[in-house]
Amino acid sequence: MKYVLVTGGVVSGLGKGVTASSIGVVLKACGLRVTSIKIDPYLNTDAGTMSPFEHGEVFVLDDGGEVDLDLGNYERFLDVTLTKDNNITTGKIFQSVIEKERKGDYLGKTVQVVPHITDAIKNWIVSVSQIPVDGAEDPADVCVIELGGTVGDIESMPFIEALRQLSFSVGQDHFCLIHVSLIPVLGVVGEQKTKPTQHSVRELRALGLTPHLLACRSAQPLLQSTKEKLSQFCHVPEANILNIHDVPNIWHVPLLLMNQNAHHAILKQLNLVSAAMPPDLRDWTEMAETYDNLKNSVRIALVGKYVGLTDSYLSVVKALLHACIACSLKPSIDWVAASDLEDESAKLTPEAHAVAWDTLRNASCVLVPGGFGDRGVSGMILAAKYARENKIPYLGICLGMQISVIEFARSVLGLEGANSMEFDQETPDPVVIFMPEGSRTHMGSTMRLGSRRTLFQTSDCIAAKLYDNPQHVDERHRHRYEVNPEFIEALENGGLKFVGKDETGKRMEILELPSHPYYVGVQFHPEFKSRPRRPSALFLGLILAATGQLEEH
Ligand code: GLN
Repeated sequence: MKYVLVTGGVVSGLGKGVTASSIGVVLKACGLRVTSIKIDPYLNTDAGTMSPFEHGEVFVLDDGGEVDLDLGNYERFLDVTLTKDNNITTGKIFQSVIEKERKGDYLGKTVQVVPHITDAIKNWIVSVSQIPVDGAEDPADVCVIELGGTVGDIESMPFIEALRQLSFSVGQDHFCLIHVSLIPVLGVVGEQKTKPTQHSVRELRALGLTPHLLACRSAQPLLQSTKEKLSQFCHVPEANILNIHDVPNIWHVPLLLMNQNAHHAILKQLNLVSAAMPPDLRDWTEMAETYDNLKNSVRIALVGKYVGLTDSYLSVVKALLHACIACSLKPSIDWVAASDLEDESAKLTPEAHAVAWDTLRNASCVLVPGGFGDRGVSGMILAAKYARENKIPYLGICLGMQISVIEFARSVLGLEGANSMEFDQETPDPVVIFMPEGSRTHMGSTMRLGSRRTLFQTSDCIAAKLYDNPQHVDERHRHRYEVNPEFIEALENGGLKFVGKDETGKRMEILELPSHPYYVGVQFHPEFKSRPRRPSALFLGLILAATGQLEEH
């Protein structure tokens, strides 16, 4: 196993995740099999309990792992299916060491950060890197490890030390360190400044790690003189100084790296030159250029709770992009804060209220994504009602499906107090109820999580046709509440059809409204499995319906 470690210096938010996944793409394009590990030096065991406001979306894996959104980038870029163990956190490492301590595995010893925590980190990395990806029999050739945070952070010290030891034990030609750094431009003169990078490389060296390559983020391409300076002062050959300047879309990053021969420098360091082919990134080139040249756009109203930070719905945004590109359209996402649609806001913030409604009315389709808690729920219900009554294509994901059931029960069945037990424990008509698979008392890892099978109840429904499978589909879940089985008969008599259910027939997975051109609700999250050239069927359906092409499809 060869390791490529990607660290970050100077500031956070440099796009280390995109850089690391792009490196993976280029190595994969050389015919190598690539896996990846993301290290998050925080104390949470996983991302499941973290707020999307603060950290961006919680990405969900097939095995139910609730992980950092960077794992989504890896799955999309490398087209692999990862496991929860591919995301290492300080919390997980400490938990495993403390569990062993309690079992008596270290009896008589003082349990310490060095060597016990660092050993646990090394063992974890080595064993996870050996897991074959996507049904392959053998482990991958290269494991790309991204270390979250910035070099020098107190939190990441045990990881840095473990990685230093790992680099020493696997040997020179099995370890390649790429340090991602920032080259800012200051003042009117516009000089590219190398000092912050020099300092962060020095910091890395002081901790015992030497970068083999530098990946420099900058607004404009690096000047030759900047490269020379970096090479001289950071002790990195000029050919190993890569530049990732701002590009029109992130699919250009692998191309940028390839054009600078990044693969050659990495393969040389790893002694893999003879095992690799020249990289073939024709499909990426086509994808990146297609995106740059899209002329027409489609307006999608995304009605959610966390619209202040677009990373909160990163996979939804990506899935929309994949679907739009398949239709040769540019996505124009109009973010609507659900609470702005509510009648209350007409009094409190009339301008925001008017803008929200205008935005909704001007969109060609409506998407209500997943979410937790009752903020904005009434606004989402109004959006679902608007889409249903005006025959505007609608996709409700998880909470978005529950919203459409509440709305339908209230407006069509006349059950005015219908609600989800999540928002009203006393509701006279609990159309959505608590149906967990896990614990009823703990919050962490207690949801219905990961891949579950949905059986189509009829092949004559939009979803089965779009998935191009009359039988079933496997998608990822993350929820505690579901449509109450006791209301199914009434809802179906009213015209709503539950066309997909789980294997027990008790859990409603997909709903459709046959009298509407595209009104689809899903209890799962189709966005997590959408890939650049394989858009999620239901997102594709939404965009096709929004542009009047669903019939032809
Ligand atoms: N809050 C809802 C539930 O727990 C929906 C969750 C979601 O949208 N991911 O069922």
